[in-house]
Amino acid sequence: MPLCKHFFPDSQASRLIPSSQPIDFGDIYVVRGSIALPILELFKGDQTMKTAFSQKTQDDYESYPHLNKARPAIIVKTRPKDNLIGGWHPPIWYMATFQNTSEYRSLPRLYKHFLMAVNSRALHRQSPNEDRHIHTLPEWRGSSQQWVLALEYTPPANYWGSGRWESPGDEIGDPLTHYAVDAGLLQKARGYAEEQLNKYMVDTPRRLKLEMRDEFFRHLRERKKENASHLNHFSQTSDLFNCMRIRLVSSNKVWQMDT
Ligand SMILES: [Zn+2]
Repeated sequence: MPLCKHFFPDSQASRLIPSSQPIDFGDIYVVRGSIALPILELFKGDQTMKTAFSQKTQDDYESYPHLNKARPAIIVKTRPKDNLIGGWHPPIWYMATFQNTSEYRSLPRLYKHFLMAVNSRALHRQSPNEDRHIHTLPEWRGSSQQWVLALEYTPPANYWGSGRWESPGDEIGDPLTHYAVDAGLLQKARGYAEEQLNKYMVDTPRRLKLEMRDEFFRHLRERKKENASHLNHFSQTSDLFNCMRIRLVSSNKVWQMDT
């Protein structure tokens, strides 16, 4: 693999972009969703992969916004010049974190095929030869490794949040910030994503595709079971606790179909 040629221009600088400035290619926005959605959409376009289960699961996710977390999402399309006001809902790449490296290792192969790391300067030092990553401007802050699922998906209009993703200020005094991905780097990453999509669509034998699909379905079923048992547990508790549950559901702490 070639060495990473990425660079860190202005990597420490924080910035807040006025909300009046229209979002565009490379901006990172708040969008509800699950990283399962782009994969399910992939099946939807392929009659040999689509099943009643995949369609039902996608319908559920897309019908009930509360099943989806608000998460950062990278805008992967350039804004049309004649559309400079709101109401533009372009395709995105969802970002995600996982609890730990063992959770990442146990992910279905389909996720891993499209995941790219978001590397901070510190992580970059640990694995400088790993080309499969992107950088944000400024450098991404957070205690967990951030990932991006490099598979395009256009979320329903009501899944869009009200602004760009914002980091909290940190303990060493960096103020709030919005993030973006450098346009040149994002183009390069899109080229890589296209190669990955081709590898899956064209080069992967059907037998292996079916195996990967079924592995993905097993993962979804397990997650559904875990979430159902959470809700079941809550529903057996007192009214007071149920009030708390409603508050939790509305703030997305209960339903996290993926992490
Ligand atoms: Zn790099």
